[in-house]
Amino acid sequence: MSNLVQIAYLISSILFILGIKFLGKTKDARKGNVLSAVGMLLAIVATLVNLNLATFPEMLACVLLGGVIGLYYARKVEMTKIPEMVALFNGFGGLASFAVALSDFFLKSQLIEGLDTVNLISIILSILIGGVTFTGSMVAFLKLDGKVSGQPITFKGQHLINLMLLIVFVVAAVLVFLNPGNPLFIAVLVVIALVLGILTVIPIGGADMPVVISLLNSYSGMAACATGFILNNNVLIVAGSLVGASGIILTQIMCKAMNRSLVNVLLGGFGQTVSGPAADGPQIVIKEVGVEEAALLFDSASSVIVVPGYGMAVAQAQHVIRELMEQCEKRNIDFRFAIHPVAGRMPGHMNVLLAEANISYDKLIEMEAINDDFSNTDLVFVVGANDVVNPAARTNPASPIFGMPILNADKARTVIVSKRSMGKGYAGIENELFGYPNCLMLFGDAKQTITKVVGEMKEMS
Ligand code: NDP
Repeated sequence: MSNLVQIAYLISSILFILGIKFLGKTKDARKGNVLSAVGMLLAIVATLVNLNLATFPEMLACVLLGGVIGLYYARKVEMTKIPEMVALFNGFGGLASFAVALSDFFLKSQLIEGLDTVNLISIILSILIGGVTFTGSMVAFLKLDGKVSGQPITFKGQHLINLMLLIVFVVAAVLVFLNPGNPLFIAVLVVIALVLGILTVIPIGGADMPVVISLLNSYSGMAACATGFILNNNVLIVAGSLVGASGIILTQIMCKAMNRSLVNVLLGGFGQTVSGPAADGPQIVIKEVGVEEAALLFDSASSVIVVPGYGMAVAQAQHVIRELMEQCEKRNIDFRFAIHPVAGRMPGHMNVLLAEANISYDKLIEMEAINDDFSNTDLVFVVGANDVVNPAARTNPASPIFGMPILNADKARTVIVSKRSMGKGYAGIENELFGYPNCLMLFGDAKQTITKVVGEMKEMS
């Protein structure tokens, strides 16, 4: 039986590796998801059979129950709430590792053979990373959900307190080694890990949230990996390492997109708003455009770039944008999408939405590949994007997003911005682009206004 279980684990690990490989390409991502899910199911069944924890009908009942709950939430959750759901997933992953580490500690510390060194190191790491991931992700969830301020929360001596807590953690960890039977030291580790999670995430906010989300994702993988060592479970080690490593790669991509260094991220407390009157820039005067005029501008353009942002997700405007694309392509207008790495509220957010609307992947061009083309483009259509096209990132050193690479939408001949009002983006700052001479504001919910623009274009043809 043990050999069979190991073979099942090996197959699961291979499925995870293939799954993550496929997830690397939008075209194959669905296949990657299915392969990974099958791998996980196999790993769970093998574990239950191995430990003789459940009969086959019991397993089936659990799979069905879990499947129904998963299906219900997957269908119920709004697209705009997926980032919050991802934050909760990360958090509960961390909590699971944290709980397993604690139960293993209390279980084995009662046994005569006690805990060996590998066990203790894994338990301590699992408590630290799992605890930080859990409370850190809960703070990220509350920030994304708007239940606490999305802006950085800072206070004097923050870094020093974090450092002191880490030192106390290390001392308590040594005491756990010397005195594994004493639950007091493990309690200290638990409290510090949970507090550190909160303290390292609260100072991060505004436009820097994508980095912390991908980092917490990576932490949840590392915590699972440490738990794999506690349970001596190879498949958990493999799965955890894959999530941990891919999360770190994503973190680096996000850091690059935000122009932040990974060291800053790991230390926490970055992305703080620079206070001062210049942060919001001068008052701007805007020009409005109506749907008819907007339709005429599309009709007369020979090249269009759409810049999608979080507002497209709110409005669920991706399907009507595909219709707009079809109208433009009928007129032989070159039509592409410029994708900023942090557009929306989670990595890959825009790609997922546009793929859902059956927009071909080769139309989605990454920021670096398309940024030089804006100056030769007739019309840029900014749909619910704000921070990712804010020229303050280039021009205003007092701006909290200064230094973040942006899409050069302002360089196009004409820019139309679809949004509901003069409301700010996630970073909470004004956007001087809206007052530029080549910029026209198309106010209203993106789906409704674009539907009207498409209607006008249909009538024209
Ligand atoms: P922003 O958050 O900067 O702006 C979104 C804009 O959409 C708002 O200004 C809003 O204006 C508009 N909007 C909202 N609802 C609608 C609607 N129904 N129709 C039309 N417009 C609408 O979005 P961006 O995508 O430009 O930038 C993403 C921001 O989020 C960055 O600061 C990024 O750092 C941050 N972030 C990104 C994460 C990621 O992983 N991608 C994670 C967490 C944060 P109005 O209210 O006037 O309509």
